[in-house]
Amino acid sequence: MKMILFGAPGAGKGTQAERISDRLQIPIIGTGMALREAIAQGTPNGLEAKSYMDGGHLVPDEIVIGIIKDRLAQPDCQKGFILDGFPRTVAQAKALDAMGVPIDLVLDIEVSDEDIERRMTGRRICGKCGASYHLIYNPSEKEGVCDRCGGELTIRSDDKPETVRERLRVYHEQTEPLKGHYAESGKLRTVIGQEELADTSRLVDEVLEAYR
Ligand code: AMP
Repeated sequence: MKMILFGAPGAGKGTQAERISDRLQIPIIGTGMALREAIAQGTPNGLEAKSYMDGGHLVPDEIVIGIIKDRLAQPDCQKGFILDGFPRTVAQAKALDAMGVPIDLVLDIEVSDEDIERRMTGRRICGKCGASYHLIYNPSEKEGVCDRCGGELTIRSDDKPETVRERLRVYHEQTEPLKGHYAESGKLRTVIGQEELADTSRLVDEVLEAYR
């Protein structure tokens, strides 16, 4: 299964990516997570990406395309992968097409801007492994501690309300138009994100069943 998880920031892509990865035993390739790691390590890409991310803007295409090219070339991606947060622009989608990697499914999770803004305040990520949580909808077993690795749960610096609004604006302007590109190829399947995580997960699993 070679798939793209598509949807606005905060729609629940990261959480569904983790579930699907566990279930299908395929790696998650998350550009946001890769960039946060690059920032933590102080690499040149990380240093360049930080100001864009803090402002809620997209990081330049050449940086993220380079990350994806390197990652997709690794052997563990041969039997499948989940792209989380890539592509986000027409140029990135074209670059992915040009890499000649056949995509089986583009799974779009739809959540309204109002619901995203409301939910973002409760969002937490593990500072160590990047796993996603939500204080109400997807809490960790022990408050503030990652179930997977025991790392400390933190608030992402770009989850501030004003940055979230800018990220949503950028999503509608630059990323949402890609839906047309993938709808034309017949690969797009849409799931409406539900209030309860278990309900969204069930809808996602129903889509995946069709690809078994
Ligand atoms: P995410 O973790 O997917 O929400 O991404 C966090 C931030 O990383 C985004 O708001 C962008 O600044 C940057 N980013 C992640 N993926 C991409 C991408 N494909 N293209 C450009 N910027 C990206």
